[in-house]
Amino acid sequence: MKYEFCPICGRKLKKVICGDEGVVPFCSHDTCYYFNTPYPCIMVAVIKDDEVLLLKQSYIYKNSKLLISGYIGIDEKAEDTVYREVLEETSIEIEDINFLGTDFIEGREILMLTYSAKYKTGKIKISKEVEEARWFKIPEALEELGENEIGKRVLEKAIEKELTL
Ligand SMILES: [Zn+2]
Repeated sequence: MKYEFCPICGRKLKKVICGDEGVVPFCSHDTCYYFNTPYPCIMVAVIKDDEVLLLKQSYIYKNSKLLISGYIGIDEKAEDTVYREVLEETSIEIEDINFLGTDFIEGREILMLTYSAKYKTGKIKISKEVEEARWFKIPEALEELGENEIGKRVLEKAIEKELTL
């Protein structure tokens, strides 16, 4: 989130030098700095044998598929978000959730915590937010991700972690 107005008093924030941090929005009424912060999200490549679960959500990408992703809730561990989002969007249960590192989407103010996970049980049953969810062989999945660069990076890391051991 990029701060322009004080969340306490609503006044417009000034840009003030704050030591090593450089220019930081500041409310002189409340004597408070507001550091711009990204929203923490998760993205997960769910693997089943040599296949990966991809979604179609054309309000995000018209011509590219997606890995499962979502915002981390207040008082929620990122790993619990991973489990919850997969269950909510596809009705599938996963296990062996592995952290793959962090990433970001330029200009979207998102810090992406990325994971791989293994399919455990359940049949795909999509939520209203999802148009389609199905398993793709890895090479086909990389094609289907198309212009979704972060999705491709996460899938490549997941392949390295899950399939080359
Ligand atoms: Zn204020």
